[in-house]
Formats: sequence, C-alpha cells, structure tokens
Amino acid sequence: MSLILRVDVDKPYGNASLTRSIASKLSEDYWFPDRIYKTRYLIHLAEFLGLCNKENIAGHIYFRMCTVPDEKIVELVKKGGHRIGFHAENTRSLETFSAEWNDFEEVVSPEKVSSFSKHGSGTLKLGKQHYAPYEPEKYKDWAMELNTRFYFGNGICKSIDDLIPKNDFYPNMFWIEREYRDNSFSGFDQLLKIAKNKDVPVLIHPCNYERSRVVANDFKELIKLSKENNIDWKVYE
Ligand SMILES: [Zn+2]
Repeated sequence: MSLILRVDVDKPYGNASLTRSIASKLSEDYWFPDRIYKTRYLIHLAEFLGLCNKENIAGHIYFRMCTVPDEKIVELVKKGGHRIGFHAENTRSLETFSAEWNDFEEVVSPEKVSSFSKHGSGTLKLGKQHYAPYEPEKYKDWAMELNTRFYFGNGICKSIDDLIPKNDFYPNMFWIEREYRDNSFSGFDQLLKIAKNKDVPVLIHPCNYERSRVVANDFKELIKLSKENNIDWKVYE
C-alpha cells in the first residue's frame, strides 16, 4: 500500500531566521495584502515542493489564509500533481469556518480545493485569527455540509491501531518532526511495516523542513526507505 503525504503550510516566510520569523508572525496576524518582502514569500515551500516533484511524490498541501499559494507555488503544485487543501483557523462556528473557506476558495480559484485540515491541536492560540479548540467531530459535519472532505486529524499515533482510518478519517498522524512522535511509535521501520499493507499518513511542515537539518534528513531518509521497500506515495482524488 502507500504513504500519504500531508503538508501543513503554517508560515508565510518560514522561520529559518529571526527576520523571517517576525515577518511570518506579522503576516499571520494581519494578513498583509502586499506581502512584506514578496520575493521571500513561501520560498521554504517552493524548496520543499521542488524535492517532492523531483521524487514524484504528490501530497495534500494545506494552506492558511496567510499562506495562500501565489503563482509560483500554484505552478509547482500543478507540476507535482499535488492537491490544494485549506488549513482552517477560525473554527469557532460553521459560519466563521465557511466564511474563511469561501474566502480561500475565491483566492485560489480557478484551482480546486479538495479538502481541509485544522491548524493547531487545541492547546495554543496560534495568532489573531486562530480559534484554538480542536474539535474534529464538528469538522466532520462541516465537511458534509460544505460537500468537501476532512481526511486528517491532528493526533499523534502511539500504536498501529492509531493509524487505522475510521470512515475515511485518520484521527492520528505520523509526524516527520521528531518532537511530535510518541516514544512507543517513533521509528520509520514501524511506519513502513504498516505501510506495506495499509495506507498511512505522514505529516510535515515545510518551515521545519527548511529550518531543521534533522527534519529535512528524516524526510529524505523516509523517501529513500519507501523506495527500498517498494512503497508508493498516493493522494486522494
Ligand atoms: Zn498548522
């Protein structure tokens, strides 16, 4: 079976330097329409997608309103056969969610938005527009309401059972970032063993891929191991 790549694009300018972290934070909170230093916008994502495209790995790429894909990114997304998803922030109510969803759809049009995921796992308020609680049951209803899909939850897998989907929904992810892996289930060997028989999702944040050599190396290592084990990468249609 396959690995499924989920990518959450959290940072407009990444966080590989102090200036870029500050630019990201300002842009996250105020959605600067004319981007602060446009040439640096989403360069970390461009680098990440460049690797995926070279390796023929398509994924579900989730964008916040403050990280909407610009032309350069749309081109890379199309070239790699990736799916555009919406990374929801203001999930206070169906009304606030659909307002944000509609704005996002409009900005990325004519590209299609195939599904959504939730920004944050419930503990921290991550910016001005962010509603912190993580309420997956609500989002499942909203997905039906808006005729879209909510495939991935924000849990951390602790066992094989945690990676089994329920009604096409994966409550837990295998995170490429080590600090979000559980000690009882943290090895690529464990992950790949399951991926031989089942589809399993992995989650990465391109800002961490750019900033941390460990994250980048781990992702590259997983690509290498997936090839050695004849495991494909797939996206939902
Ligand atoms: Zn996020």
